[in-house]
Amino acid sequence: MSSSVHRGIGMTSQRTRERLIQRLRDEGIQNQTVLEVMRNTPRHIFVDEALASRAYEDTALPIGQGQTISQPFIVARMTELLLEAGPMETVLEVGTGSGYQTAILSKLVKRVYSVERIQSLQLLARKRFQELQLRNIRLHHRDGGMGLPEYAPFDGILVTAAPEGIPRSLVDQLKVGGCMVLPIGNRSEQVLVRVTRTKSGYQKELLEQVIFVPLLGGTL
Ligand code: SAH
Repeated sequence: MSSSVHRGIGMTSQRTRERLIQRLRDEGIQNQTVLEVMRNTPRHIFVDEALASRAYEDTALPIGQGQTISQPFIVARMTELLLEAGPMETVLEVGTGSGYQTAILSKLVKRVYSVERIQSLQLLARKRFQELQLRNIRLHHRDGGMGLPEYAPFDGILVTAAPEGIPRSLVDQLKVGGCMVLPIGNRSEQVLVRVTRTKSGYQKELLEQVIFVPLLGGTL
């Protein structure tokens, strides 16, 4: 294993991690498998070394380019909501960012496709997956608002940046019975939504209020 996996080991001890898992439980996360995967996935390697000591706080942190690594509670909640539909083979993630959510998903489904519009973030995420030997992740550098039609349909889609409404192109890339978890809204007010694809269209459930960076067009 490379030395960066071990960096900051004092501040990122098993006890610190355990405290985070207990907090997620207290806040209502019930899926034991999700909690177990989060316990075993080091979050500190997904942030800059200078922030490693804060990696096991239940908070979003900056990852550069004006973007953030999602709060652990939100990662747990979205993953739990996605998996309620049943076991999944292929999942599309829009917004790789640090790659933390991607890494969690990769241990719960057969294959994860993840798209990111900012190449520098994608490259960092790729290095982290190599370090952690996660081999079932396929990364694409592109504007993910249109999804990844060449690999569709997916059992699940998870969007980690907020569009203003439900993108029809993404719904169309779900298998019937598959579901998508995403935040929708503007910069000041967003709600988490679960969309389930049906034979004739889709059903949506509005869940809790959330704050995400906006889904933007184009690539960098
Ligand atoms: N799951 C990530 C969240 C990162 S923030 C993590 O926990 O680290 C959301 C990410 O979505 C940012 O990296 C941003 O660049 C990316 N993003 C925003 N709009 C996008 C789009 N249209 N296509 C692909 N990625 C997008």
